Amino acid sequence: MRSDPTLRRIYREYNRKWFNGALPAIPVVWGETRRFPRSEGKSTLALTNFEANSPMQIVFAPRLRKNKEWNLVRCTMLHEMCHVALPYKVAPHGRAFQNLMRDHAMRGAFDGRW
Ligand SMILES: [Zn+2]
Repeated sequence: MRSDPTLRRIYREYNRKWFNGALPAIPVVWGETRRFPRSEGKSTLALTNFEANSPMQIVFAPRLRKNKEWNLVRCTMLHEMCHVALPYKVAPHGRAFQNLMRDHAMRGAFDGRW
């Protein structure tokens, strides 16, 4: 699937600014964010899909666009990009993830957005 232009622009900007351009240029799209679309699971703000151990795409819930929640989109983008930056094997929101998010917060990545 092709990236949404707005989401791709934010992803590129953040990759350059906060990840030294080291993250892969994966598609970033609007779409279904329930982990198991056929079940009754609640949809989440966004998720990163992995195939084997590689991040394949980031999907954002369309309601964020509908409600114009752009600060939340940006905070959530950083969250998902921290998943992209870390090996798939690590606990999704474990210590390595918390440390990486904290680093970004300390460097000002969330300033004015949260
Ligand atoms: Zn997460």
